[in-house]
Amino acid sequence: MVRYILVGDNQASKIYVNYKEKACKKVGIKTINHNLPENTEFSTLAELIEKLNRDSQVDGILLQLPLPSHLDEDKLLEMIDPDKDVDGFHPLNVGKLILGKETFVSATPLGIMNLLKAHDIKFKGKEAVVVGRSNIVGKPIAALLTAHDATVTICHSKTIELEKQIARAQILIVAVGKRGVVKPQWIPSGCVVVDVGTHRLDSGKVVGDLDFEEVSRKAAWITPVPGGIGPMTIASLLQNTVKAALNH
Ligand code: NAP
Repeated sequence: MVRYILVGDNQASKIYVNYKEKACKKVGIKTINHNLPENTEFSTLAELIEKLNRDSQVDGILLQLPLPSHLDEDKLLEMIDPDKDVDGFHPLNVGKLILGKETFVSATPLGIMNLLKAHDIKFKGKEAVVVGRSNIVGKPIAALLTAHDATVTICHSKTIELEKQIARAQILIVAVGKRGVVKPQWIPSGCVVVDVGTHRLDSGKVVGDLDFEEVSRKAAWITPVPGGIGPMTIASLLQNTVKAALNH
């Protein structure tokens, strides 16, 4: 069983939890939601997490981020039992990932690796460039690619001459959260491209960080948005939940 903790009225968070719940239901994983008001106190949340940690019926605990600004996310994430941390956000699990040990890997990077492996993309000795260094995407995917013997370059907002860094990519992961930072003409021919970004345009259309049509002309392989890393993230979260249940 998995417990979702959602604090406040963030619409995007509600949508994400709803997706995850539906996916759990589809594969027969029991879920219970804790929808708490925006003004929930730290102590209330801490007590709930402690209670779920002790409950042997609970396999996974998901604290939906971002939390309202008065709550200390880092402290609360650290309170979750690392064996129930199916999001892979606990510092112990992040540390294990860096050390190359068996652990819960956060769902988006795990989903990217699952997808690339399913398509028989080879990593050994390849030049991989990751644009974005967030704790939930950029850093963990860089660690996973390194563990799979790729030579990894991590780029971010202070990177000088991003185009030059991208020019060497055989595998390119883009997780910037802004459209148009990576230009289609920069994509090396034959590159494997993963677009993690998700944006809803005013028209309602959902798109990625990249111009899919333009990049498709140069890339050997590219993930679409929607229908690429989003569903892989959900599937990988389910994978982590099943793993937690089997470990119990
Ligand atoms: P984030 O925490 O905002 O991180 C964005 C990263 O991009 C940062 O490292 C930032 O650099 C870098 N960046 C910003 N502007 C840049 C520029 N001009 N040049 C180079 N790097 C730049 O975002 P995130 O949480 O990783 O998410 C990224 C995107 O993926 C978002 O669109 C998000 O919605 C999407 N996402 C999708 C899924 C899914 O399931 N499909 C899951 C997670 C995220 P600094 O570190 O220097 O600020």
